[in-house]
Amino acid sequence: RAKENGKGRAIEYDPELDRERQRIAELESLLKSAISNGAIEAVFQPLVSATTGVVTGLEALARWRTATGNISPEIFIPLAERCGLIDALGSHMLKTSIEHARNWPGMALSVNVSPVQLCNPEFAADVISLLQKRDFDPRRLTLEITEGVLMTNPDQARRSIDHLKKVGIKFALDDFGCGYASIGALRQFGFDRMKIDRSLVSALDQATNGADVLKATISLATALQIPVTAEGIENIRQAAILREAGCDQLQGYLIGKPMSADDISSKLQEQAA
Ligand code: C2E
Ligand code: MG
Ligand code: MG
Ligand code: MG
Repeated sequence: RAKENGKGRAIEYDPELDRERQRIAELESLLKSAISNGAIEAVFQPLVSATTGVVTGLEALARWRTATGNISPEIFIPLAERCGLIDALGSHMLKTSIEHARNWPGMALSVNVSPVQLCNPEFAADVISLLQKRDFDPRRLTLEITEGVLMTNPDQARRSIDHLKKVGIKFALDDFGCGYASIGALRQFGFDRMKIDRSLVSALDQATNGADVLKATISLATALQIPVTAEGIENIRQAAILREAGCDQLQGYLIGKPMSADDISSKLQEQAA
């Protein structure tokens, strides 16, 4: 470990830290070529109506498969954010997701957007021109964002959100309940939907007051007339509690795992039949 031994002292040379930096630099350059080669793929997880169980939308999630195994978005998204690749990655994800969603008429599409993208003053105009070029109805698109950006750069976030909402794009506040986002933020930024974080849902399995916290959170959103999606539902009991508490949309392994575009197409065909 590298240690700073007080003021003015030299930092010891640390070969381990050097190797770590090298690994990160290698990963960055791999990611860069993965983005430009189209090696970052989109999988899609169903969003279903809590009352009917019908699939009404799909959330696109990025996947990076390498020769030595899959790398989680929990690793490569923050990496892309740090090394300036997130705009390229994000725009690739938006393009591919839209291409696939064109084959799924009537389905809503949700795409995750990094706070870094939203703070880019060109982001909104880029998204709008992409939708126009591909002739994709902006009202079908929801952008999912986490609360981070609302704290760090609220002014630019608001400008981007306002611009995109004007053309009919919707916004969901992702991972609600695991950070600091307030119910106030839901209203101030004009969110169309709240997504309850998986950690709150899994807390339902513990013998605590998890259900009460969830119900209170959902009823606050409901009071603001903001619909709620619960993510990370893994068992029937969780689904029942969340439905009862007023979530109108459910998502999780119980309902459907993230799948390839082909598997989604088959699933939607079955549903239509
Ligand atoms: P998220 O947007 O909150 O997505 C939900 C995550 O929970 C996904 O993980 C999904 O596979 C996982 N999940 C869904 N249902 C269940 C369940 O029932 N149980 C469990 N244990 N997990 C479930 P994933 O795909 O690994 O993505 C992780 C995060 O990485 C996402 O969280 C999102 O914040 C980010 N991410 C993924 N794709 C993109 C992207 O294209 N752009 C950006 N900016 N971020 C992305
Ligand atoms: Mg999401
Ligand atoms: Mg989430
Ligand atoms: Mg999450």
